[in-house]
Amino acid sequence: MTGEKEYFDFDDIGACAELAELLFPGVKESPEECEGRFPERKLPEGAKVTRFAPSPTGFLHFGGLFPTTVGERLAHQSGGVFILRIEDTDAKREVEGAAESLINTLSYYGIKFDEGVTAEGEKGDYGPYRQSMRAAIYHVYAKKLVAEGKAYPCFSTDEELEKLNSADKKAELKEKDWHFDAEAVKRELLERRRFTLEEVKSSLAAGEKFVLRIRADGDSDKKHPFTDLIKGNIEVPENDEDFVLLKSDGIPTYHFAHAVDDHLMRMTHVIRGEEWLPSLPKHIQLFRYLGFRLPKYMHIAQIMKLENGAKKKLSKRDMGANMNDYKRMGFAPDCVMEYVMTLLNSNYEEWHMQNPDKKYTEFPFSIKKMSTSGCLFDLAKLEDVSKNVLSKYTAKQIYEGAAEWAREFDPELAALLERDPEYAERIFSIGRGGKKPRKDFGAWGEVKAYMGFFYDELFEVTEALPEGTDITDVKQVLTVFAKEYDPEDTQDVWFEKIKAVGAPLGYASDMKAYKAAPEQYKGSVADVSAFLRLAVTGRLSSPDMYEVMRIMGKERVAGRLSAFAGKL
Ligand code: GLU
Repeated sequence: MTGEKEYFDFDDIGACAELAELLFPGVKESPEECEGRFPERKLPEGAKVTRFAPSPTGFLHFGGLFPTTVGERLAHQSGGVFILRIEDTDAKREVEGAAESLINTLSYYGIKFDEGVTAEGEKGDYGPYRQSMRAAIYHVYAKKLVAEGKAYPCFSTDEELEKLNSADKKAELKEKDWHFDAEAVKRELLERRRFTLEEVKSSLAAGEKFVLRIRADGDSDKKHPFTDLIKGNIEVPENDEDFVLLKSDGIPTYHFAHAVDDHLMRMTHVIRGEEWLPSLPKHIQLFRYLGFRLPKYMHIAQIMKLENGAKKKLSKRDMGANMNDYKRMGFAPDCVMEYVMTLLNSNYEEWHMQNPDKKYTEFPFSIKKMSTSGCLFDLAKLEDVSKNVLSKYTAKQIYEGAAEWAREFDPELAALLERDPEYAERIFSIGRGGKKPRKDFGAWGEVKAYMGFFYDELFEVTEALPEGTDITDVKQVLTVFAKEYDPEDTQDVWFEKIKAVGAPLGYASDMKAYKAAPEQYKGSVADVSAFLRLAVTGRLSSPDMYEVMRIMGKERVAGRLSAFAGKL
């Protein structure tokens, strides 16, 4: 027998079948049987099946909420199915509790899954939905690929494997004074395809571990047109890399698991970050080898931030990258979702202006209106969007949102709010409900600064009277008004009283008259109001003083006025 002949012949169907049996003796199920367990879904025409497939390696990133929202919208807008699959094939990187935390965070943002891993366990007929539980399924397809001569084992240690592709290897090749080029590396790598069945048998008998590699048949110099639903028409090279399908512990790589899972779960659209685009050749190859119909792909551009005028990727450490940041700052989930929608679809804001009372879920989300180059993340814009959203809340909703947040992040505020919910709700109702509602805060974390002065415990004077103010006048105004003030007064009567305290001291009651001849007055009713405002709220700008005083009541108003006067 010549040496050549002894090598495993991938065209020999019998040999391939024998190899498959040697490697996967325990796999009895056929791919057809497996397919039968996960039949095509019976869904209306055009219904999309999408998924969020996080690896439980940490917290939910803002960049993760992005594709998730797209998947959720596309599925639910089309009467399809949205699935949560946990991609926990990399035990080394797994963080304990991360999957649960992801599930909780997503549900906090109102992202609902029809199928998959939920807080109550698994839901749906296409599971298991944790990749670590799907080894038996992957092995059915791994066996099929080996039996068809499309995959082969590689008995090397992890380090050896790593070395083959590593810088070390390249350096070694150079050292040997080879003419270093990609071809040389490729030849070296192709060496792995040379083995005999006997070698495989003895390695298995010795208990050696193997990784399973694909037997790539592509040529990376050849490119094929491909349509990505976001990137448009692109060109994708063929795959020529014998990449790993199963690691030595029998657990699949992302590439292999993605193909098997997205096929068996009958996914119509794969929506993921553009960092996966370079892996597309591998995936196209795998789907073809496995005989699976390729789903549609959408590669979403990464979120960028502006730093010193330059666009940079939003990194994990940036404020706002971790979804828990929003919770801590007190951005309500619907505000964040509203912001996500404005970033996702360029026509969303306009639509929302025309449909102010509709929920974002009623917006006709369109893939075509998505940015191909990466959205710009901007906390100031989030604040703006949130102010808008919160301005439409009822006082009760504001109270509930603020109190819930405060219970976790500001117990002092929570105690004050809960001491007298009715008082708090009256405060929150100032300027609410009309055509032009007030937009004082965008996050619960800003509530204390906005309304703290209503509570004696939080009240402090943070601003000063304008320079040159006659202190005796201020004292006089505060003392007289403290006596005069009656919360039962109508706004007109109340205002007349303010004018009446100032007039004898030389403060014009009539703004027109004052503007016409300011030199004839010490000031105007605006100054008188400012004295009162500063004494009552501790600052020079505040919501409507008439409302503020009525909510505080006679005793507290009078107390504040005389306390301020006493310190002058
Ligand atoms: N597990 C992959 C990740 O965490 C999922 C990519 C995909 O959606 O296909 O990025």
